[in-house]
Amino acid sequence: MTEQTTGDLPATQGEERDYDEYRVIEDLGGWKRSHTCNALTAADLDSTVTLMGWVQFRRDHGGLIFIDLRDREGLTQCVFSPELAPAAHERAHAIRSEYVVAIRGVVRRRPEGMANPSMPTGEVEVYATEWKLLNTSDTPPFPIEDRVDAAEMLRLKYRYLDLRRPRLAKNFILRNRAAQSVRRYLDGLGFLEIETPVLTKSTPEGARDFLVPSRMSQGMFYALPQSPQIFKQLLMVSGLDRYFQIVKCFRDEDLRADRQPEFTQIDIEMSFPDEEQVMDMAEGLIRTLFKETIGVELPSPFPRMTYRQAMGEYGSDKPDVRFGLPLQDVKDIFAGGGFKVFASAPCLKAVRVPGGLELSRKEIDDLTEFVKIYGAQGLAWIKVKEDGEWQSPIVKFFSEDEKKGLAERLGMANGDIVFFQAAKEDVANAALGNLRLKLGERFGLIDDSAYAPLWVTDFPLLEYDPEDKRWVAKHHPFTSPQPGQLEEIAFKPGEALARAYDMVLNGNEIGGGSIRIHTPAGQKAMFKALGISDDEAEEKFGFLIEALKYGAPPHGGIAFGLDRIVMLLTGAKSIRDVIAFPKTQKATCLMTEAPNVVARKQLRELGIQLREKPEDKKEDA
Ligand code: ASP
Repeated sequence: MTEQTTGDLPATQGEERDYDEYRVIEDLGGWKRSHTCNALTAADLDSTVTLMGWVQFRRDHGGLIFIDLRDREGLTQCVFSPELAPAAHERAHAIRSEYVVAIRGVVRRRPEGMANPSMPTGEVEVYATEWKLLNTSDTPPFPIEDRVDAAEMLRLKYRYLDLRRPRLAKNFILRNRAAQSVRRYLDGLGFLEIETPVLTKSTPEGARDFLVPSRMSQGMFYALPQSPQIFKQLLMVSGLDRYFQIVKCFRDEDLRADRQPEFTQIDIEMSFPDEEQVMDMAEGLIRTLFKETIGVELPSPFPRMTYRQAMGEYGSDKPDVRFGLPLQDVKDIFAGGGFKVFASAPCLKAVRVPGGLELSRKEIDDLTEFVKIYGAQGLAWIKVKEDGEWQSPIVKFFSEDEKKGLAERLGMANGDIVFFQAAKEDVANAALGNLRLKLGERFGLIDDSAYAPLWVTDFPLLEYDPEDKRWVAKHHPFTSPQPGQLEEIAFKPGEALARAYDMVLNGNEIGGGSIRIHTPAGQKAMFKALGISDDEAEEKFGFLIEALKYGAPPHGGIAFGLDRIVMLLTGAKSIRDVIAFPKTQKATCLMTEAPNVVARKQLRELGIQLREKPEDKKEDA
């Protein structure tokens, strides 16, 4: 830097003036961008380049003005020197953060000791000979930097600025790569990308529908698709053989942290497959995707586990198998014994945690509160001290045989803690399954850099909904039962298994699908088992049953949650970080302020009259 430094001007010189006269917005005037802001290296030394982007930062230093110019790809340091280009330098005093500029100049090596090895462009800088002001910017409400502590509400209101932050922009660059990888893979296997309607009729995927009133058919409503399920099946009836779509789906659910009311699926369907073929194709897709986006090799084939085993050992149908701590059934050990809480429990399960002796009383109390979220009444435990003695509020109720049986079954060792759940099976599984995840984190058992995919298979076809007091489809009502079970579902609804499969990765369900029912009789039998009358089936799904009469081929498919997958690929903590314009947990958009009131005229045209005036709830988040 030495030879260009004029040296005698104080760094603040120039700030006293406002330089407004230089803030005249210019046209591109034929300038063309030659490189992105992440492209220049020592290989480009001495070439003349034109960069365009946003000013990350301006500093005046020893007579020189430095700016970091940013675009979605990265940063390049640009230098304005009063000696090389006096006019350009003088005008550069007017530059502020987030101004949009075009800079033309010569690539030079940064002076000795000034290189920044952590930046791809860190060896070079661009010595500006000319520049254009393409637009000014107000001071942004938060700095456009990776590390920003602005509240998420503010960032969502100014989402377009939030997306300028490199950490977020990177997620969308990767998301695009993921989508293109999916398209290439499926196109290569002969899948056709076909769009299905958004204004449609309800598809039952277990959630509430978003409804859209019809103006032409007053009093009638479209539903936004919860998935394109029925349409993709109809495309198989039509003989198009292999379909896919990267598609928005809409579910009006109360939102948990990792859900959005509209989300994107990679939706796939194929004709004439069995489970193996769909699973093979789907595994290949995910393996290719991981390889092409983040260079990770996933195992081949993915391990498989039945639903029963997953629930039994992990208390979850989406087990995180990156670590152990399996749940173990110990009911038989205490059956008929003197400790009534254990002896009379419908289900008794335990999880042994090596090293768990170190958990403090306070930590155990916190874990007890934690399992209550899942319906547990409490959390029994035994600590095995270093001298082998059992410390626990409950062991005094155990017989010697019970103690021996338990120690053997669990392989109890000094330093362990064992937690128990005596409860209904679903409560015991949910409580211990979630406790297991929490303990996995507490004891550092989860390798964050590992990817552990697996298939969960042999799901129950139906599950009982205690609120509605009826059987409902575990996946959706078009899922085929396993061979020979169709006739039985009406009689033994709890026993039938589905030809369904879920793909799980690190404890997340990333995809799920099934072989479908493809005969009218089969579909009718299913509706019957679900307590859907012929009339209701006809009204809701008549067009599907009708279609199945005209030579529907055997077919099956799967759908993946693209947002969830991109989250795993990028390591993003929130699903909102991989969706360009996400909604809040109250399903609102803070930027556009949707949903919002509409003009009375619009409602009149739709034949809609509101019962109550919507309150102004702008404070929503
Ligand atoms: N339509 C199903 C879903 O959205 C996926 C499938 O069965 O292919 O979960």
